[in-house]
Amino acid sequence: MNDILPEQTPVWQFVESTVRKVLAQYGYQEIRMPIVEQTDLFKRSIGEVTDIVEKEMYTFEDRNGDSLTLRPEGTAGCVRAAEEHGLLFNQTRRLWYTGPMFRHERPQKGRYRQFHQIGVECFGMAGPDIDAELLILTARLWKELGLEGHTRLEINSIGTSEARRAYREALVDYLEQDKAGLDADSQRRLQTNPLRILDSKNPSTRKILEGAPSLDDYLDDESRIHFDRLRELLDAAGINYTVNPALVRGLDYYGKTVFEWITDSLGAQGTVCAGGRYDGLVEQLGGKPTCAVGFAMGVERLILLLETLEVIPDHVNNNADVYVTAMGESAMAPAFALAESLRSALVDRVVVSHCGGGSFKSQMKKADRSAARYAVILGENELANGTVGLKPLRADEPQREVLQSELASVLSEAFKH
Ligand code: ATP
Ligand code: MG
Repeated sequence: MNDILPEQTPVWQFVESTVRKVLAQYGYQEIRMPIVEQTDLFKRSIGEVTDIVEKEMYTFEDRNGDSLTLRPEGTAGCVRAAEEHGLLFNQTRRLWYTGPMFRHERPQKGRYRQFHQIGVECFGMAGPDIDAELLILTARLWKELGLEGHTRLEINSIGTSEARRAYREALVDYLEQDKAGLDADSQRRLQTNPLRILDSKNPSTRKILEGAPSLDDYLDDESRIHFDRLRELLDAAGINYTVNPALVRGLDYYGKTVFEWITDSLGAQGTVCAGGRYDGLVEQLGGKPTCAVGFAMGVERLILLLETLEVIPDHVNNNADVYVTAMGESAMAPAFALAESLRSALVDRVVVSHCGGGSFKSQMKKADRSAARYAVILGENELANGTVGLKPLRADEPQREVLQSELASVLSEAFKH
């Protein structure tokens, strides 16, 4: 679990504000859920025989003896909240949330025990149009973040649960013949969650999988039509993708469309966004049958990618724009008044007031360290004359005398260049 330090928060804010802006543009509404839910909610939604429920959840008993769990993902809580507050009945919803998630995994680059997701969930829309919208939206997001061309989209259809059941049987029959050649994890999954064997990375298992039956051959007509139409919509929108028949996703609640946005720049932890359709989940959790589709993005991985590619925009930093100094006790109150007037006039600029006293030299040193472009110097002489000293800190230009009444407009002009 990581501390996110002041040097890192600007890039977090950049990602969060960009996502917020793009989602707002598409009419998505934010929902905020608790970080803790009843353990049972996750067991029933994610599935008993998934990695998350089997070995990754932070589960504890509270003082009432209830079993609670720190949320390992957001979909279950979002469905619970939406259902509980009547957001789903007879209506469509486009929701999003962001926040920490918790999984007890082996920590490594791009994989942490507390990590952050931005999740999007849409309810009440059955067709491939909303699937396509989610992918068009994410493509825009990559562009806005400067990641265009650095992520690729893989999609698949895993059909209805009946289609998957038939396929599962065929797959198990096939793999049983070569059981000894499978890795230990896959052998175990043969009984519990055989579809997950499809995305095994083990070379010997991969070799066996080459001859395995394909899920595609078991797809039901409805899922096939849905998938074909989705592909047409993506083609028309100019979204590139590849169909990956081995893409199954690890959570039980998915059906029909599944997708992942992957980067090749982060090694094994390359999935930055993953999701799909989960039409059965709301009913499974006790609600009325409600179509749903959504995705989750891993914020740490997105940030790692921005850093690796060195595409973080210059304006994303902690730098001050103006640093206002006050030389001597008598300059303190007027310096605050001046700084306030600058904040009113230059609303997008960071105006830092020097606090803590000190010599001219030490105040100028702090001004320099703030990375401000200008220091405003207010001492006894300037007070007497109604002026300030305006010192450019990043350019080889001399300090000049500016009337206090003109300072805001002088700075505003200066920041245009
Ligand atoms: P993986 O196959 O990498 O374990 P997953 O299928 O468990 O991923 P999801 O539950 O679909 O992942 O979560 C969606 C996204 O959240 C992932 O694609 C990834 O970007 C991010 N994510 C998942 N687990 C972690 C983690 N432990 N640390 C950081 N990011 C994570
Ligand atoms: Mg995982």
